[in-house]
Amino acid sequence: MEAGREMDAMVAELVMRQCAHRERVRYCIEDGNSVDSGFTCKACGVDLYANECPRYSTDIAAAWTVVEKLGLSVIRSEDGWYAIKPTDIEHERISCTDKNSIRLIGRDGEIFTPADTPAEAICRAALAASRSSRGEGGRRTSNRSTEQGEW
Ligand SMILES: [Zn+2]
Repeated sequence: MEAGREMDAMVAELVMRQCAHRERVRYCIEDGNSVDSGFTCKACGVDLYANECPRYSTDIAAAWTVVEKLGLSVIRSEDGWYAIKPTDIEHERISCTDKNSIRLIGRDGEIFTPADTPAEAICRAALAASRSSRGEGGRRTSNRSTEQGEW
């Protein structure tokens, strides 16, 4: 999944346990000569004027609230950004390659792939964590690939 509004909404719902305000309802109140119009969320009723779903996957300030909630570590590598829970990484499976890049291997042998931005890396890690905590096994996310054998 790419960074964007769908990723923002999934992080809001699955990780931050917030309403993502997916469906909006237009309102228009006329009172004499004054007209007040805008949108409210169909699900929770909040006025969307100043309450949009946070842009977790593109705004580092919003993404950082996810880091704090989940206790993630954010790592910069030459080839991109990683966000991990230290417990997701197999012992001694963080290594530096000769290109100043970092390589991370997960507990089940998956190789983490870097994201272009820290916010996207954070969202991927958060969604992966929410999937595994709900007991959905198997391939957890598209941001990891499985490598056969040892290296
Ligand atoms: Zn809502």
